[in-house]
Amino acid sequence: SRSSSAWSQDNVIKTPYDKIEIPKCTLYDYVWQNLEKWPEKTMTVCADTGRGYTYEKAFYLSNAFAANLRLKLKIRDGDTVSVMLPNLPDYPLIAMGIIEAGGVISTINPIYTSHEVQRQLVASNAKAVITMPEILKVVKEALKQANLDIPIIVVKTNGDATPEGTYCFNELSEDVHVDKSCLKEVRRTHNDIVFLPYSSGTTGMPKGVELSHRNLLANFEQMNAAQIRHHEDTSESHQDAVMAVLPFFHIYGASVSMFHKMSVGAKIVSVTKFHPEKFLNALQKFKIDILYVAPPMVLLMAAHPNGTSETFQHLRSVVNGAAPLSVTDVQRFLSKLKQKIDFRQAYGLTETSPLVLMSPTGIEDYQTVGFPVSSTEAKVVDAEFKALGPNKNGELLVRGPQVMRGYKDNPQANSEVFTEDGWFRTGDMVVANEEGRITITDRLKELIKVKGFQVPPAELEAVLREHPAVNDAAVIGVPHHKTGEVPKAFVVLKPDQKVETKDISEFVKERVAPYKRIEDVVFVDTIPKNASGKILRKDLKAKYA
Ligand code: AMP
Repeated sequence: SRSSSAWSQDNVIKTPYDKIEIPKCTLYDYVWQNLEKWPEKTMTVCADTGRGYTYEKAFYLSNAFAANLRLKLKIRDGDTVSVMLPNLPDYPLIAMGIIEAGGVISTINPIYTSHEVQRQLVASNAKAVITMPEILKVVKEALKQANLDIPIIVVKTNGDATPEGTYCFNELSEDVHVDKSCLKEVRRTHNDIVFLPYSSGTTGMPKGVELSHRNLLANFEQMNAAQIRHHEDTSESHQDAVMAVLPFFHIYGASVSMFHKMSVGAKIVSVTKFHPEKFLNALQKFKIDILYVAPPMVLLMAAHPNGTSETFQHLRSVVNGAAPLSVTDVQRFLSKLKQKIDFRQAYGLTETSPLVLMSPTGIEDYQTVGFPVSSTEAKVVDAEFKALGPNKNGELLVRGPQVMRGYKDNPQANSEVFTEDGWFRTGDMVVANEEGRITITDRLKELIKVKGFQVPPAELEAVLREHPAVNDAAVIGVPHHKTGEVPKAFVVLKPDQKVETKDISEFVKERVAPYKRIEDVVFVDTIPKNASGKILRKDLKAKYA
């Protein structure tokens, strides 16, 4: 007998938001369903160059691209197509083309090294890879390392010649004579996989996260629930402008600032390379009214002298996610604005398409990440999986239509992350109040987040162990005022090795993306482990962090 209706008798936290209907169609049908309402409107535009596409143009180009993916590249239903690109205005067309061709999109961070790329190309069983001339060298090196012979498609952003041995996206999509009848053969249903991003989850190496059309559509409908959708600007001829500053290769950027925004006819202003002053200028220039960010961008907007009430004058709704952000930082940013806006924290994971928790619009709650979204249940459990009541700290478990089908080819990881009755373990520690409002308190899982990006300790440990002088290694995250966390390494050397900590840092630097680099390396005699050989990260944290 609880005072609040948010909690059931067995301590399940219910959603306060409207129930949703999940359309039984594919992501392709969903995104283009309202196309005839806004063919002339801008779909994407590059913040830097102004290059972009209307909805109608994007539709036709992605159509031709899809047909050529099947005819020239021989892509078939369920084939993985990897995309290694920054946020180009062409990205949404490319994604829609792959989907229409029956493919599965697997996204790769464009600043990855060949070492990181080759692993994902192999694991995802990529049948083609789409990139740009500027990073073609990395892709070619990765294919060589992986001993893979798959076609490469490049996106050209200037008039340079197409690099030898590659297909050109621009030619494949502008091919007006292509026979599109082959697209009639595509058989994809809403339970098929459509998006395959990589996440380490709770533990271990990055794994392919299998998201179905249904998972993503459920999440879009959850975002559209009356209580949490952005307040509408109903003035005549207004088109919402969204800045796509979060990377499209991450589910947060792909979902909220690409697929969902195309389905509602918004203008997507893509930021190819982040630059503080240009970012702030673009907010004003493109009259951005909806902005999705991660904590470092809020800190920047709050602190940068170029960030003024004029810069932010068009903002109506800002959503922060991906990592914790303090109330003080939110207030510092809001104190710069003249108008009242909806500022909300949202919580999600790659494995949940991504949104699971969010506050309603029209309230000033900067502390919590709100309530479970529509058709989603949450539970706070202790170490024995017993569901706890209000105001108790425990691990967050969730259940809902946006939760992934599972990790690709990894029954072991799936059995660890799903309970027998179908709850998904988030690996995050939370507290929920009487109303069911949830606050993130800590991360139980080993994952490190630098500026909201995943840095899996197991991945860095594997790199460290490749060093010829290293016997054993462990990596933990330590707090950092600007990036949230940074990785710190503990290394056991083989006997009689004459290496210095900076040699180890250098070795890692050559093999990983910049945000995964380890500046802080400590030589130790042993790595604390339990009887089954699992690294006792808590002990390392207690001793050194
Ligand atoms: P990813 O799969 O890269 O989106 O990472 C998901 C993880 O990011 C979650 O399990 C949390 O640890 C963290 N995270 C996401 N959103 C938030 C948030 N609003 N506050 C704190 N941590 C968050």
